[in-house]
Amino acid sequence: MDKTPFKAESKRMLEMMIHSIYSHREIFLRELISNASDAIDKIYYKALTDSTLTFDKDNYYIKVAADQENRTLTIVDTGIGMTKEELENNLGVIAKSGSLAFKSENESKDGHDIIGQFGVGFYSSFMVADMVTVISRALGSDTAYKWESSGVEGYTIVPTDKDSVGTEIILTIKESTEDENYDEYLDEYQLKSIIKKYSDFIRYPIKMDVTQQ
Ligand code: ADP
Ligand code: MG
Repeated sequence: MDKTPFKAESKRMLEMMIHSIYSHREIFLRELISNASDAIDKIYYKALTDSTLTFDKDNYYIKVAADQENRTLTIVDTGIGMTKEELENNLGVIAKSGSLAFKSENESKDGHDIIGQFGVGFYSSFMVADMVTVISRALGSDTAYKWESSGVEGYTIVPTDKDSVGTEIILTIKESTEDENYDEYLDEYQLKSIIKKYSDFIRYPIKMDVTQQ
């Protein structure tokens, strides 16, 4: 299948993310959890004005699951989800990102500062993943879509099945090398500590199956 190329700006941003910002790459998880939380917020606020919608707190959560065998890390949310158009527009372009503008004005600053101060967003996943798969079903829609990308080359979108509204982000975590270790992003204990460090303030439950003793 032909891949839709990323817009030029996104491509530059993505290359910058992938190649130059390694000092704090664990923050990708903060970004994905914050997006998940924003997506639940959107349902919460919609329910305030839409009488056909009720917000039952127990049904809204974020779930993080690691599969060491398949090297996948999955972040599930029961938020508002994305339509096909939203997947295209929100994940295919970095339109409103302030990070790129900041970077060009502050070339001397290293990646660490930029990443520490700014939300770098969804694309930061590519710091730790070879492939990112997003399965999403929007509120009010029966159809779900699968967005998939292996980085700068572009992405594909195909219809898929999903039982419930919300989004599932599946990262295929990079293989570790002599110089770079990515295995911590598949380790429950270490994931827990990253979540505690960066996402402690999130107001929805962050669940994780505990399989390790
Ligand atoms: P930002 O969060 O600053 O807008 P991101 O790159 O983190 O930038 O995300 C881009 C957009 O993609 C979000 O604004 C949102 O519209 C959409 N998005 C990302 N993750 C999710 C998600 N889990 N559920 C619904 N929409 C999402
Ligand atoms: Mg974000």
